[in-house]
Amino acid sequence: MNTSTSSYIGRFAPTPSGHLHFGSLVAALASYLDARAVGGRWLLRMEDLDPPREEPGAQVAILKALESYGLEWDGEMVRQSERHAAYVEVLDRLFNQGLAYACTCSRKQLEPYHGIYPGLCRNAGHSQEEDAAIRLRVPELEYRFTDRVQGEFRQHLGRDVGDFVIRRRDGLYAYQLAVVLDDAWQGVTDIVRGADLLDSTPRQLYLQELLGLPQPRYLHVPLITQPDGHKLGKSYRSPPLAADQATPLLLRALRALGQKTDSEMVHAGPREVLSWGIEHWDALLIPRTLSVPEAQIR
Ligand code: GLU
Ligand code: ZN
Repeated sequence: MNTSTSSYIGRFAPTPSGHLHFGSLVAALASYLDARAVGGRWLLRMEDLDPPREEPGAQVAILKALESYGLEWDGEMVRQSERHAAYVEVLDRLFNQGLAYACTCSRKQLEPYHGIYPGLCRNAGHSQEEDAAIRLRVPELEYRFTDRVQGEFRQHLGRDVGDFVIRRRDGLYAYQLAVVLDDAWQGVTDIVRGADLLDSTPRQLYLQELLGLPQPRYLHVPLITQPDGHKLGKSYRSPPLAADQATPLLLRALRALGQKTDSEMVHAGPREVLSWGIEHWDALLIPRTLSVPEAQIR
C-alpha cells in the first residue's frame, strides 16, 4: 500500500438534515480509509446551509456517531453556516461579471422544463435585490472527468443541466457553490462521496474552472439502496447508527465497499477494525456501480 503521500487531504461533509445511517457510514468510511491509507488528513465539514431542513440535534448526533465508530477527524470541524462571507463575495463577483444573473421564475413556471432551466431570465436584467434566485450561466459544453472507481463520466452542461441556482430565492446559498469554495479553501485534494453526487460533479468542475480553483480527484462510492431502489435516508426510516453496533456495521460497510474482512474481527473494537481497514484498503475493489441493494450486503 502506498504510504508515501501526505499531501492528501480528504473530507466528510454530512448534511444535518438527519442522523447518519448505514449509507452515510459507507461514504464516511471510504473517505476515511482512502485518506488514512496514504497517511493523509481527513477533515470534517458540517454542511448546515439549510436551517429550515435541519433536524434538531442532528449535528450532535452525527459527531457522536463518528466518535463511537472511531472515525476521528483532523483539526476543528468547519461549519458552512460560518462561511457566508466567503460565499457572498464570490456570488457578487460572478453577478457583477455577468456570469450569474437573477431569476424570478416561479416553480410553477418551470414545471414544464423537468429541472433543466430554459434560460428565461438570462437577459432580463433583474437586479440582485429583487426577490430572486441567482443562477450561474453554463456554457454549451460537455464536461468530463475520470472517477477513480466509476470511470469516465460526461455531462453536457447546457443540455443536461442548464443555468443552475447558486443562491436560492429564500437567500440560502446552494450546495454547488458552497462545496466548491469550501473544498478549495480547506485544500481538499480528494473527494470520496456517494454516487448520488456524480452528476453534480460537472457543475462543480465548471465552477472550479471559472474561479481558477484546483480540481480535486473524485471517487464516488455506490449508494446503499432499499429493496424499492431508494437511497437509504431519513424518509425511508433507516435506523440511526447505534453506538453498540460499531464493529458489525463497520465490517458490513467494508464488505459493501468490496473490501475483504477477517472473521476474527467480529470480536475486535471499532478502532481495530479501522486499523485493519486502513492496512488492507484497496479502492480498486470498490464495486463499479452506482448502487447496491442493502439486502445484498452480507
Ligand atoms: N453534504 C452532502 C451530503 O450529505 C455531501 C457533499 C459532498 O460530499 O460533496 O449529501
Ligand atoms: Zn427565471
